[in-house]
Amino acid sequence: MLKIFKPCDFHVHLREGSLSQFVLKENNKHFQKILVMPNLENPLTNAELLLKYRNKILKMNKSSEVLFTIYLNNNCSMRDLNYMRKNNLFFAAKLYPLNATTNSGSGVSDIKKMAKYFSFLEGHNIPLCIHGEHVHENDDPYEREKKFLDLELSWIIKNFKSLKITLEHITTKDSVSFVKSNKNISATITTHHLLENTHTFLGGNLRPELFCKPIIKSSIHQEALQKVALSGSSKFFFGSDSAPHLKSRKYAPACCAGVYSTKYSISNIIELFWINKKTSNLNKFLTLNGCKHYGLKYDNKSYKYKRIKNFKFQKYSKFQNDHLINYNYFKNFWTEV
Ligand SMILES: [Zn+2]
Repeated sequence: MLKIFKPCDFHVHLREGSLSQFVLKENNKHFQKILVMPNLENPLTNAELLLKYRNKILKMNKSSEVLFTIYLNNNCSMRDLNYMRKNNLFFAAKLYPLNATTNSGSGVSDIKKMAKYFSFLEGHNIPLCIHGEHVHENDDPYEREKKFLDLELSWIIKNFKSLKITLEHITTKDSVSFVKSNKNISATITTHHLLENTHTFLGGNLRPELFCKPIIKSSIHQEALQKVALSGSSKFFFGSDSAPHLKSRKYAPACCAGVYSTKYSISNIIELFWINKKTSNLNKFLTLNGCKHYGLKYDNKSYKYKRIKNFKFQKYSKFQNDHLINYNYFKNFWTEV
């Protein structure tokens, strides 16, 4: 048995329609706060789209504090951004390089053309969440994150010194060092990047359910992520990047990128900290570090979790005529009591 604050997930995809209702319900069980990503089929690039989505989600939401993001690209209007800011419609802006991941076809191809937007965010102390991959033709997917640090993120940091940045779902030791050695930047880490590596992903049979962007890296990188997460280091916190896709779309000739981890993510994280005897850092990784980075108040009531050994995990959750594939790693299950 252990006691922790109700966790926060600072990076989640709820998607749209009845799928979002299904996924939000699962999120409500586990998280006191969720930061929701804007890459819908029609990305949330303006006030009209954001308002519509926001109202739908808030109507369905039961218990979590939902923080919204907008999809920042060259077509965003400054007037619209100001309107959304004044009315507190969004909490952070999300930057996707063009075609980096699911629904990023409206993403940014030249980061330098985004200067006026970065100034706006910096001036109003609005956080910028970044999918940090340099995506160009013939680039090796294993090198994308490192290249982004060198070619793009370094430029942003140099030119916008007070911009608050979250480097999302980091996967490499290079990103760990980069975040540690620069001011005003923190990083989220996912469950699956903490627990999997190239060997578990494609060293035996290929596991489409683990296919995601950024792609899962080797154990050297995995170890660096585990080490920094377990240490409770204040610049690193949990963002699941949980992204539901239907089973028929995952086990398919063109498997889409995304791991749906919401159902068991907290159980997996607690078990990781438990076996490494670092449960005293769980609140930091799951609640405190993220809230501190974003300047958010949090619910500091403690909740009890108990460990069930050799639990029978539900591999699939039925959704309409299809399923979602639940990500789980460990044999033991931590559940709130
Ligand atoms: Zn994501």
